[in-house]
Amino acid sequence: MGEAVVVALAAALLVLCWSVAGVAWHRRGRAPAAVPLAVALVCVGVWAGFDAALNVARAHHVGAATRTLLLVLDYTAVHASIAAAFAFCRSVLDPAWRLRRRIGALLAVAPALVLTAVATNSWHGAFFTPATAPGGDIGFGSLFWVHVSYCYLLLGGGLACLVAARRRVGPVFRRQLDSLLVGASVPFVGAATVLSWEPETHGVDPLPFLFAVSALVHFRAVFRQGLLQLVPVARARVMDTIGEAVFVLDSTGRVVDANAAARVLLPRLRPDLFHAGADADAVGLGVEEVLGEDVIRPLGDEGHRVVEAAPGVHLDARTTVVHGHRGEVLARVVVVRDVSDLARANQRLQEQIVVIERLRERLQEEAVRDPLTGLHNRRHLLDVLDSALVRAHEEDEPLALVLVDVDHFKAVNDTHGHLAGDEVLRRVARVLVAGVRDGDVVARYGGEEFLLLLPGIDGEAAQRRAEQIRENCSRLRVPLPALRPVGGGDGVIVSGAAAVRVTVSAGVSVLHVHGHDADGLIAAADEALYAAKRSGRNQVVLAC
Ligand code: GH3
Ligand code: MG
Ligand code: MG
Repeated sequence: MGEAVVVALAAALLVLCWSVAGVAWHRRGRAPAAVPLAVALVCVGVWAGFDAALNVARAHHVGAATRTLLLVLDYTAVHASIAAAFAFCRSVLDPAWRLRRRIGALLAVAPALVLTAVATNSWHGAFFTPATAPGGDIGFGSLFWVHVSYCYLLLGGGLACLVAARRRVGPVFRRQLDSLLVGASVPFVGAATVLSWEPETHGVDPLPFLFAVSALVHFRAVFRQGLLQLVPVARARVMDTIGEAVFVLDSTGRVVDANAAARVLLPRLRPDLFHAGADADAVGLGVEEVLGEDVIRPLGDEGHRVVEAAPGVHLDARTTVVHGHRGEVLARVVVVRDVSDLARANQRLQEQIVVIERLRERLQEEAVRDPLTGLHNRRHLLDVLDSALVRAHEEDEPLALVLVDVDHFKAVNDTHGHLAGDEVLRRVARVLVAGVRDGDVVARYGGEEFLLLLPGIDGEAAQRRAEQIRENCSRLRVPLPALRPVGGGDGVIVSGAAAVRVTVSAGVSVLHVHGHDADGLIAAADEALYAAKRSGRNQVVLAC
């Protein structure tokens, strides 16, 4: 192979490796494994460069000292590449893995020995031997094979970690691990060829190229297939036992892992994207695309909310940030619980609560209302009267009571029937309500008796109000029902009268003047009412 080609190939590999290493280094925040990967790529580039330099040095018969120096540098790059590849395999499986001092020392011992052997080869000749192939200038000694064995042992260790992990992970990770395994196997596949290939004879050592292929496959596995290292592999199975759907996101919001519950949920949530029955694989998709912007956006990095993500699908979603050792953001985890059943039950409960509340209000209202006239009943009036008396005492304000009774009401019933009597009561009630102001209370006190509670007014004003009511009642013309049942129901007769006219009598009592408490005031008003009745009805009498 021509010298120019050897140099061009090495330069191309160096540029490629260093460029990809730059990208990996730039993205190291997303994946801890990016650091050893970048180191491996840089070293492989250097390795290829020194290989080419050695070729050129040999071709130009450069002095032995320079060539030895180039060899030492070359083997330094080889060992650094191998150590970085091992570190990559470890940290890709466990983001918490760090190159501890003891392992670092162990990894440094072998290269130190190899480099010493290379540097002192001219004395012992145990690393490189005089050329065995015709046209070549060196062969490999026993120490070289020790070096090769060490390198493949270390690479084999990394590969073994990946193989062991593959058995532990769920199906989501398996594809990615397969890529990593393919990448890690490349140097082994090429090993047989290379070991029977004497680079001195052919001009180019293919090993850096094989390592570069391996590193590029790993780069793709880490950055294109999702970040395996975000979730320690040992936990993969635990993920699948969790009832809630768990999505692990990388820093760009891409789903890098999803558990079994997530794969069940997705076809319900996004039937347009995932088909029921199929193994819904959201890995690689953006989380907003998978769960919907409405669900994810408001959650931010750390949030919790319940939302109707699709018609009838209610989700309880929670996001948490996973931090690395140095506080860097490794991942975001979204845990989603399908609370549709709960939401439906809750909605039914809410509806029932509304019905119960309405019933309760109605019952409460009915408990204080008179069903015939719609006025407050006697019980409510007595409650209100008690508090009105307390207030009147405290604020030293007047308070008046007016007891109104329909005159000769029994005769109305007797003459026109009970229904007509009821209608009269309703009409009188309306007159009373029409005459009240804010703060007044009108109640049906008994059969055809009504009580008005008038806070803030004295006897004279109360008398005027009662007089007005009396007058308005006397103007009432209560139309009779066209048909009225009479007696025991043995017939229906048509009433002759077009309307009933009624009058009312009223007794007025005033707080502190005619009584100091409810009983006293009512008794005084009652007495005044009787006085009105005795004086001929249709009149208002102030208690004395
Ligand atoms: P006075 O002028 O002295 O008050 O005579 P009155 O007939 O109005 O008084 P009385 O106490 O003799 O009659 C009251 C009647 O009211 C007797 C009762 O049957 C009737 N009554 C009580 N509650 C109702 C009711 O809800 N509907 C009807 N239609 N009548 C009722
Ligand atoms: Mg009466
Ligand atoms: Mg009466």
